[in-house]
Amino acid sequence: MSGGVGDAPDFESLATKAIRGLRAYDPGHDLVAWRRRVGPGLIELGSNENPWGASPAARAAVLDSLHALHRYPDPLGGDLKRALAALHGVAVEQLLLGNGSHELLMQFAQVFAGEGDEVIASQYGFAVYAIAAQAAGAKLVQAPALPRTDAMARGHDLDALAAAITPRTKLVYLANPNNPTGTWFGMDALGAFLARVPRNVIVVVDEAYAEFNEDAGSALRYLATHPNLVVTRTFSKAYALAGLRIGFAVGDPRLIAVMERVRESFNVNLAGLAAAEAALGDGAHLQWGLARNAEERARLAEAFAARGWFVHPSRTNFLLVEFGARTSAIEHALLERGIVLRPMIGYGLPDCLRITVGDRDENRRLVAALDEMG
Ligand SMILES: *Cc1c(COP(=O)(O)O)cnc(C)c1O
Repeated sequence: MSGGVGDAPDFESLATKAIRGLRAYDPGHDLVAWRRRVGPGLIELGSNENPWGASPAARAAVLDSLHALHRYPDPLGGDLKRALAALHGVAVEQLLLGNGSHELLMQFAQVFAGEGDEVIASQYGFAVYAIAAQAAGAKLVQAPALPRTDAMARGHDLDALAAAITPRTKLVYLANPNNPTGTWFGMDALGAFLARVPRNVIVVVDEAYAEFNEDAGSALRYLATHPNLVVTRTFSKAYALAGLRIGFAVGDPRLIAVMERVRESFNVNLAGLAAAEAALGDGAHLQWGLARNAEERARLAEAFAARGWFVHPSRTNFLLVEFGARTSAIEHALLERGIVLRPMIGYGLPDCLRITVGDRDENRRLVAALDEMG
């Protein structure tokens, strides 16, 4: 590398073996640059954010929290934990707060897996799991996903995931529903899977989209019988608080206590704590957003299917759509028109795009742009 001052060591070789060769999480397009270029008309459908916005109560709570901006936030997040405990029927000691659930997903591997260990995730599973395993020095084992022809096209194959467990397995990551496929599995299937997992293997069920999938139930029901299970949730999606970075995990108090050792003491910020607590108190706003999403998702899925594009089943706020050989050209042409989607090349799905469900107007403009392109 040139341009530095003085002789620099080879930082790549100074990094630990686990970090050498690790590639950072790919957040998609440079949205800040695109906002600058396109202006307020940019349609952002690449990051599964909630277009209907946060509860007004959460916004008010953020403003109210600002009087204490010069103070550190509550390192225990006590008020938020008590609200979460009441909502989910768990004990405060079962809760761990994260600066987004991404942070916690990384820390599970840091705490429970290392050199010589195996971490299992599904093919087409959320990209963070592979990074977490690799950063911890463990080996990622990918179980094949369900075939495209299955009703849950490319979703998790729980039998394949269970079969991948070996004496070296420390951790299994499942996403329900999964990102980027949008697919889900039911609670009977999860129960059967958990019965096959040795008790010293930790199962992380990532429920970032659980609110969109209430009918299918939550893995939370298995916590009492499976102390090796831990469930993660986020305020970034259904609660529309992605900008404040707040997520949490629910698990056995003894597992949570071990995880607490690597938690940075003030990892969840003042505004995030206040907003999340207020958002929990506004169930009506949550339900309103979920209803809007379900309605718009159905319209959008229908529009794509009517044009001959395969749409993966989804109980989330996004759709994985197969556009075939022209996928990359379509993606770039849309970007030129100020519409941002998420390419799936990194997931080994080059003929698919992941499309966040926008509001009515955004979805209309997306479909119109696709039609114009022919
Ligand atoms: C968005 C997402 C998360 C992480 O969200 P945070 O903003 O870090 O809480 C975790 N898992 C999946 C599957 C996601 O799609």
